[in-house]
Amino acid sequence: MTPTTLPEQRRILATALPGPRSVERQARRAAELAHGLGTTMPVFIDRAGGGILVDIDGNHIIDLASGIAVTSVGAAHPAVTRRIAEQAERFTHTCFLVTEYDGFVEVAAALNRLTPGDHPKKTALFSTGSEAVENAIKIARTATGRSAVVVLGHAYHGRTLLTMSMTAKNVPYKQGFGPFAPEVYRVPSPYPYRWPTGPENAAAEAFAALEEIVTTQIGAANVAAIVAEPIQGEGGFIVPPPGYLRAVQEFAAEHGIVFVADEIQTGLARTGALFACEHEGVVPDLITTAKALAGGMPLAAVTGRAEIMDAVPAGGLGGTYAGNPVACAAALGALEAIESEGLVARAREIEQRVRPRLEELVTPGSVVGEVRGRGAMLALEFVRPGTSEPAPEIARAVVEHCHQEGVLTLLCGTFGNVIRLLPPLVIPMDLLDEAIDVLVAAVGSAR
Ligand SMILES: *Cc1c(COP(=O)(O)O)cnc(C)c1O
Repeated sequence: MTPTTLPEQRRILATALPGPRSVERQARRAAELAHGLGTTMPVFIDRAGGGILVDIDGNHIIDLASGIAVTSVGAAHPAVTRRIAEQAERFTHTCFLVTEYDGFVEVAAALNRLTPGDHPKKTALFSTGSEAVENAIKIARTATGRSAVVVLGHAYHGRTLLTMSMTAKNVPYKQGFGPFAPEVYRVPSPYPYRWPTGPENAAAEAFAALEEIVTTQIGAANVAAIVAEPIQGEGGFIVPPPGYLRAVQEFAAEHGIVFVADEIQTGLARTGALFACEHEGVVPDLITTAKALAGGMPLAAVTGRAEIMDAVPAGGLGGTYAGNPVACAAALGALEAIESEGLVARAREIEQRVRPRLEELVTPGSVVGEVRGRGAMLALEFVRPGTSEPAPEIARAVVEHCHQEGVLTLLCGTFGNVIRLLPPLVIPMDLLDEAIDVLVAAVGSAR
């Protein structure tokens, strides 16, 4: 088998970005593809790996996106690609509901072992993050015999009917797609930077609001699940203030409500812990994973308390492709790489390296209102200078500048004014430094 060789780990601007070949492809794309499919950076990729994406014009772009927190081990880690090739040669699919294979059970066992808490756990595998969240709700509803689902402001849980209903932001995720799934209730997110009475009150006041809404409006005995991202991803990399998640978890336990941590974006080493809940010492009843789980292959999971996971009768969970054998092989490779390359510690090193440089950008009158996040999940929130008014146009201009300089960055946030950094955890540090140089210069020229 040919060994995986990474593209040269160096930023190379061979053409203006996007280059002529990518530009030429856009007309065909526009003719062939549904308009509703967006693009962050209109370049077509030829190969990728480590911290670099190589486009069809020969540009080497520094990757600060990881395909939205997916390729944490890089887009071509040999531990992943070799296992994919080996598995694909043996068989690509049986459907686990039809006949079984070891990879499915091995991934489940790994997640049962690695997720927080030493209680008995079980896992079910699926293909996408949305599917994992949907199934966590199916499981919680069966286990409790209740129907209500409580979610937070600024939440993102996916694009299917139920998960879109659980997602907070209207445009582009919900506009025109209703009617939405019933029995979804929203409580305020403790967003410290934007909390009306100040960040120091966010945890207590947001928890009080949750308690009041659940007890007076829904009825705690009607609530199947409270679902929260331990750091809100698409909503703007909002880190809940210390104590909030634990208070919610304790409240859920007290009322027989299933507490679901959606770790689809935060999970598997990204935040400098294997799971972001660990930073708060919180042990969720159920935990959803996807994105970084299988090194770029579609795989998702629900893992949690055995007695809750076992509530659904045989045949009630599954899917044709759920836990596909090639994706499971990839996941075992990704988990091996996370461990063998010490990627949990690497995420913390990335934070130590990058965060101080970003924090220098927060000065009185700056366009950067706040730097936040954990590990290799860091973000800058852009505001009109001297205010905390969201400035999405400044964030977009900075992203655009980075893209022209060959550094891929992503936007997020309910107000579209947050630049998020999600580098592959294997990115060489000098490449990361160079990408941050470009970002800092872009912020400087945006004033
Ligand atoms: C991406 C994401 C999802 C949805 O995952 P898909 O694989 O796109 O369906 C759900 N929850 C969170 C927190 C996410 O970041």
